[in-house]
Amino acid sequence: MKKICLLAGAMALAASSSLYAQRTLIHCGKLIDGLADAAQDQMTIVVEKNRITAVEKGYTKGQGTDKVIDLKNKTVLPGLTDMHVHIESETSRDQFAKRVSYTPADIAFEAQKYAYINLMAGFTAVRDLGGSGVNISLRNAINKGLVVGPRIFTAGQTLATTGGHGDPTNGLGNHFTAPEKMTDGVVDSPEAGRKAVRQRYKDGADCIKITATGGVLSIAKSGKAPQFTDDEVSAIVSTAKDYGFHVAAHAHGAEGMKRALRAGVTTIEHGTYMDDEAIEIFKKTGAYYVPTIIAGRSAADSAKIIGYFHPFVRAKALEIGPLIQKTFEKAYKAGVKIAFGTDAGVFAHGKNAKEFEYMTEVGMPPMEAIKSATIVPAQILGEEANMGSISKGKYADIIATDENPLQNIKTLQNVTFVMKDGAVVKQ
Ligand SMILES: [Zn+2]
Repeated sequence: MKKICLLAGAMALAASSSLYAQRTLIHCGKLIDGLADAAQDQMTIVVEKNRITAVEKGYTKGQGTDKVIDLKNKTVLPGLTDMHVHIESETSRDQFAKRVSYTPADIAFEAQKYAYINLMAGFTAVRDLGGSGVNISLRNAINKGLVVGPRIFTAGQTLATTGGHGDPTNGLGNHFTAPEKMTDGVVDSPEAGRKAVRQRYKDGADCIKITATGGVLSIAKSGKAPQFTDDEVSAIVSTAKDYGFHVAAHAHGAEGMKRALRAGVTTIEHGTYMDDEAIEIFKKTGAYYVPTIIAGRSAADSAKIIGYFHPFVRAKALEIGPLIQKTFEKAYKAGVKIAFGTDAGVFAHGKNAKEFEYMTEVGMPPMEAIKSATIVPAQILGEEANMGSISKGKYADIIATDENPLQNIKTLQNVTFVMKDGAVVKQ
């Protein structure tokens, strides 16, 4: 069944127009369009090729060659966007060994599986915040219809400082001479920062990711210390703007977070030790907070398994991981703008929607949580004309759940229908 869907999806995604019905009419029992504040009953979405051409009240009757999809007993929503995934990898005991033993081809075969899993979970778009560079090739292969997966907006390789979170040679013996490609993105001056941004432009990245403070999963002692100076992060952000890139900054500690915010980054990832001053700067600059509560919780759970992580990582995961949900609650209630993101890959791909449960658990209304994963990401990515809502002109990226997520948010963990780019990939 899965195999057939995969093949059908790939063929349809190849955009051979003869495979599209004249019009596809989707009859929706309930419709959450990503724009209105309430669900609408008994609606029809009209799809032609890969775009939505109309949204009509009631169940429009099909004529001639029209294809009708009956979702009368489901709630239909825009495809979801996860603003923080690592599409190339997934947590495992041997993740460190893979970093040195895997070839780009090995990474690619795994990555296409993770991409498929994200799409099947209802995520028709993801922002990938760092890998080896295979993420760019994977995005291109999906766009060409060679591989089935979500729309990918990728940072390519992360920018980090020497020994910082994201330095790919952390944990290697100092007698080990890393290949140049492996240390690409390790920057220790404003000049190196500017060059690295330009390299990402040349590589074909869609955005820039920096690690503004230490992180949990790197083999390095501190998870919070600032890791870029003001002039380094400013050079990166101003150069990124020249190339039309937005910048995402990983940050746990408050000092590194504030440096990144003042320099003008668009999103802060994790944000664990966000203080009142940081919240003020968020509100002043209009930056978004991408919480990744699920990643913190999962890392803390994995750390309880003896031997799963390096001792450095274990200590940080136990300390930092469980705090993120409280930070999210504080930031949300203080009026910081929130974009949905999970850090999928740090936990098993496909479980991303569990994040909705954690967000609503501490006070975010379900509709707002859904918008943080639909219309808000489209705005950040500059894709409002194409994504984020079910309305005329947008890509036909459409999902459905058996229950109404406004009443039971957990139903988003069991998406039963997925259409991407006008092609049904799960039903
Ligand atoms: Zn991450």
